[in-house]
Amino acid sequence: MTRRDWIASLLVSGATRLGDERDQCHCDIALPEPIWVQHLITFYCPCDICCGTWHDGELVTPARGITSRGHAPIEGCTVAVDPTVWPYGSLIDIERFGVRLASDCGQKVQGLHLDVFVDSHKKAIQLGRRHLKARKFNG
Ligand SMILES: [Zn+2]
Repeated sequence: MTRRDWIASLLVSGATRLGDERDQCHCDIALPEPIWVQHLITFYCPCDICCGTWHDGELVTPARGITSRGHAPIEGCTVAVDPTVWPYGSLIDIERFGVRLASDCGQKVQGLHLDVFVDSHKKAIQLGRRHLKARKFNG
């Protein structure tokens, strides 16, 4: 199995599993139309800087290395979203980066903001912040 096939299988199995959960919750969220919409794109890794918060002088890292959906994040697959904008399980096509699975969230990720998972902090810093278009991926 090539890396590409592996990611594709993760995307499909993740989307199916999360999609089933979404069907059960009956929340009335309007799916974004499959049109390109400008988003703030940022990048994060599993480090304390990206995932930790300071609480009473102590570093708390409840989310390090695990997504809000209870899975290990995967570069090339995981993107953190505001789930009121992008329901978990959505496949999101991000301009110049390709398709990611909405499978994490973050306190700072709100509205039209996508936080793309990468596996090193150096990479997250190098990629920086940018405004790019994203749309729902169909198929
Ligand atoms: Zn980091």
